[in-house]
Amino acid sequence: MFFRLLLPFLFLGLSTASLSAVCLTLSKLLPDQVSFSNSTIYDDAVASYFCVQERLTPNCMVRADSARDVVVVIKQVETTDGAILSVRGGGHSANVGFANSNTGITLDLRSLNHISVNGEGNVTSVGGGALWSEVYEYLDERGLAVLGGRVGTVGVDYRSSHRAWVLLLITSQTSMWSLPSGDIVNANVTSNADLFAVLKAGQNNLGVVTIFDLLSFKQGLYWGGGIGYAESAVSAQLAAFADFKTPDNLDPDAEIEQSFLYSKAKELHISKNNMFYLKPIAQPANLLGVWATTTFKSSLAGLQDVYRLWNSSVTELSSVDGLVSSLTFQAVPPVTGEDGSVDTFGLAPGTHPEKDLVICLIANWWSDTTDSARMLNGTKEFIAAVEKNTEAQGTKVPFTYLNYAASWQDLIQSIGEEQVKFLKKVAAKYDPNGVFQTKAPGGFKISRVRS
Ligand SMILES: Cc1cc2nc3c(=O)[nH]c(=O)nc-3n(C[C@H](O)[C@H](O)[C@H](O)COP(=O)(O)OP(=O)(O)OC[C@H]3O[C@@H](n4cnc5c(N)ncnc54)[C@H](O)[C@@H]3O)c2cc1C
Repeated sequence: MFFRLLLPFLFLGLSTASLSAVCLTLSKLLPDQVSFSNSTIYDDAVASYFCVQERLTPNCMVRADSARDVVVVIKQVETTDGAILSVRGGGHSANVGFANSNTGITLDLRSLNHISVNGEGNVTSVGGGALWSEVYEYLDERGLAVLGGRVGTVGVDYRSSHRAWVLLLITSQTSMWSLPSGDIVNANVTSNADLFAVLKAGQNNLGVVTIFDLLSFKQGLYWGGGIGYAESAVSAQLAAFADFKTPDNLDPDAEIEQSFLYSKAKELHISKNNMFYLKPIAQPANLLGVWATTTFKSSLAGLQDVYRLWNSSVTELSSVDGLVSSLTFQAVPPVTGEDGSVDTFGLAPGTHPEKDLVICLIANWWSDTTDSARMLNGTKEFIAAVEKNTEAQGTKVPFTYLNYAASWQDLIQSIGEEQVKFLKKVAAKYDPNGVFQTKAPGGFKISRVRS
């Protein structure tokens, strides 16, 4: 059996002393790159996670300055009994323990934020720890753009209608990986193609990506912005979104994210559209949060149902301190695979060519940890209610968008049985000892997929 499923849990019983010893060894191997609690560098790193619940305190934080440093850390963790690794990119996951831990070593990739563009301007190399804002600033000065997250402080990980999902765009390009074997390899359509094919779906199951090559393009001014509407506009808003997602109306240059927002403190109940036509959002601070998602085929009745379910959920949770709840409908671009692009989400080519798919994102925020269990349950119940409804209507789609998925969602399973088998095969090849299954327990792990 290639995965040692139970080991992560056994490690939790190991002494702090042995974990600190790994940190001390690392501080000799990587001088000035290892920080411990009560130092400014360590405390700042902990405080820099976007969600409060992810501001955990590992035995040490290790800053990677190169792909080689990443290998050094993986090897040290692999060869030290009880060592546990967390890998941190932009630090924006709302899932507890995905990119940090209260025990072990947290590998901080933020210094791997170098950005460069080739002479033609069509390939931009981005370090695995860069933030979208850093990428946008660099390219903006050169009249270029790539597709990325809508909030600049998020780590490089996205989609837009016109050019399809960002990670499909890397097709003919390369990603650089630091692997458990100690090798640093490129993965693209011709070299280590299996690794490249699971670039996104593999997440932190196989290794650490230190460079993403993104296709960049010339971009002049484009039209975009957000408009808020009073609650009375909800019906018209839903009707407009359903119209936008009618397959015959597909316009590859257009993208809309439709959100419904409830803020207890502001006694606000509004809808808001972020709209883009090809030819940035204030973010909440110091919040506890959870994101969860589901995908379905669009119809006006379906959108109305989801809105109604969200409204009931907000009413149910409205006594929670600091509650801000946001429901967003995002248009999913059709993924046809016709252009030969590799779907690095791990979906089989052409699995989702539909033009009427909608991702539904619920983002819930609150201020007091005593409400956490209630908020997590409420979020889970909302998604379950939506899925019950879409299942009954025959509109449910078994795709869970990774970046929005909550820790309890069957993320990897949603890519399909055959694709899961492929992912497991690639993992067994590139991480034969299962280091990223047993010693880096945070994240959606393929060894935990029910098969
Ligand atoms: C305010 C806000 C706005 C957002 N907007 C968008 C959006 O517009 N579009 C969108 O798609 N998503 C969006 N998201 C979701 C976001 O993309 C995901 O939370 C994403 O995982 C964040 O990436 P990160 O590097 O910041 O995460 P981290 O929390 O650092 O890491 C998340 C997971 O990825 C792993 N990981 C990180 N980097 C690497 C690497 N180089 N190699 C291997 N594993 C790695 C970590 O170990 C961890 O398990 C948003 C989230 C927030 C909080």
